[in-house]
Amino acid sequence: MILVLKKGITQEQKNHIRSILRKEGCIVREMLEAGRSVIGAIGKPGRDPDFFRQLPGVVKVIPISTSFKLVSREMHSEDTLVQVGDVVIGAERIVVIAGPCAVESRDQALRIAREVKRCGAVLFRGGAFKPRTSPYVFQGLGQEGLKILSDVRREVGLGVVTEITSPTQADMMMKYVDVVQVGARNMQNFELLKCVGRMGKPVILKRGLSATIEEWLMSAEYILSEGNDSVVLCERGIRTFEPYTRNTLDLTAIPVMKKLTHLPVIIDPSHATGIRDKVAPMARAAIAAGADGLMIEVHHDPDKALSDGLQSLYPKQFERLMRDIYVIAPVIGKQLDFSYLDKATAVERLSEATGVGGRRAAFLGEAGTFSHKACTQYFGSNVTAAPVSSFKAIFQAVKEGEVDFGIVPLENSLTGSIHENYDLLLEYDLRIIGEITLRIMHHLIAHPGAKIENIRRVFSHPQVFQQCRQFLEGHDRWELVSVKDTAGAVRQIKEGGDPANAAIASKEAADIYGMEVIEEGIETNPRNYTRFVVIGTRRLENGPRRKSSLIYSAGNRPGALYETLKIFAENGINLVKLESRPIHGKPWEYMFYVDLEADVESDSFKPMLDALRKHTDYLKILGSY
Ligand code: PEP
Ligand code: MN
Repeated sequence: MILVLKKGITQEQKNHIRSILRKEGCIVREMLEAGRSVIGAIGKPGRDPDFFRQLPGVVKVIPISTSFKLVSREMHSEDTLVQVGDVVIGAERIVVIAGPCAVESRDQALRIAREVKRCGAVLFRGGAFKPRTSPYVFQGLGQEGLKILSDVRREVGLGVVTEITSPTQADMMMKYVDVVQVGARNMQNFELLKCVGRMGKPVILKRGLSATIEEWLMSAEYILSEGNDSVVLCERGIRTFEPYTRNTLDLTAIPVMKKLTHLPVIIDPSHATGIRDKVAPMARAAIAAGADGLMIEVHHDPDKALSDGLQSLYPKQFERLMRDIYVIAPVIGKQLDFSYLDKATAVERLSEATGVGGRRAAFLGEAGTFSHKACTQYFGSNVTAAPVSSFKAIFQAVKEGEVDFGIVPLENSLTGSIHENYDLLLEYDLRIIGEITLRIMHHLIAHPGAKIENIRRVFSHPQVFQQCRQFLEGHDRWELVSVKDTAGAVRQIKEGGDPANAAIASKEAADIYGMEVIEEGIETNPRNYTRFVVIGTRRLENGPRRKSSLIYSAGNRPGALYETLKIFAENGINLVKLESRPIHGKPWEYMFYVDLEADVESDSFKPMLDALRKHTDYLKILGSY
């Protein structure tokens, strides 16, 4: 059961409640639920709920209806985030774990680790103790394999995941690896589950070969009941009557588990299919279905792999898959971040260099805006998002060092460029150090329980009304009230308390203010994306360098622009954006804003930049990112 506690409850009252529950033989956990303290009690207390309801400090008692308790969403409604070094599993950045089935040698492991890291994997997997069907085939390198994994961690900079097959390996695992995996065959090895529960290291718990979802959750319950909440559930296919694939991947498990449990869910398409060319389609589907991550087998020479070669991707295939996921992720409100780890290191280094801990990034508006979401998706929880009231104030705050970064929208796929920010990029001497694209989904948000037929007034940003025109035309009696930002609209209707008022904003804004989405996805065109850039005073060390942005003027001569474009063409550089903006104070003269798919600041493009300088009157490199 869950005991919801009074706001001003004293420590003494809490202690009293806890000690009663313990005496009744319950496992007791204190948590924050929607900003409120609750105590979760697992067990069968002798006294009935009414007894607990009247204890001083208790507001109400809610029974947990499922057989699994600690892992249940009823117990803990917010998503659990599992932290492995700089990597967070369960948040909006998709976590891809990749590597060979088994560690075969130091060279093999290091080589594959470097490849998968280059493609965007953030954790490395490799088995050292292999649970094989036949006792006569390769069983893994054992402890030597674990040592190799710790070399990978040190030399390549990836956290490492490996399977534990017996409690006797626990000490070794504590020493050499970052995440322990409980394999499908051991999902109901209860002594092993208790052991990893006590180890306290993050655990990936695979679904058993023929385990039901409830059995799988009960196994996770064993781990949590020992005090370890860092559990990631991994669906890897189940046994069915279908022999064509090695197993049948149960993708329904993703939305089912997301509803039942707060723990992150990842998918292993390699063991699920057993066939190399079936891995990428299922991986893409898993991300589209809402998985928090993937675990994928990759081998540089799968024909010679000592295990699971047939299902291992070539690095090139893995790279292609990662690019697909990069594109798919924003559709479902997530990101695949190619510079996930480099960003964390760069932010840490920045902190060391300035001697000030805690980095900040300025965004427009208030918590719950799309700018806020862009900020948290780009930096994860490493950087504090700081609300600022105008775009200019963001540039100014970065320039003056009040914040370390700023995040500003540059263009929307439906409405085009945000010119104010292009002008500010020209005016301020700051750099673009990164970019992030968000899908913009608008929702009609109202007071909990409100009905759409009772809505009279809708608050939002004027541009949002434009983007939801079709939906709003169907409700032409509604009064539209323009406000500065979408999250502010939700706050205003909340504070006003009038159930006839609604707002149009993001789901995040609804959650922040405890309001309810009453109509989802009301934007007219679902291909509504906004591209944001991150600005700073200096480039991120080892940051991404796939694109560059330039501003230049080419002079008022025939063929002047053509001459500059020719330079890009001759250097094989793909131009992805070209836009002209008037030069202030010089009527009918223009600056060109150009985005290129190249790191023009790298040495190899020096001659190209020299040539460009000769053909331009003014040239500013905004950054390579
Ligand atoms: C593995 O990950 O290499 C493995 C043996 O997986 P499973 O336990 O899912 O069969
Ligand atoms: Mn395998």
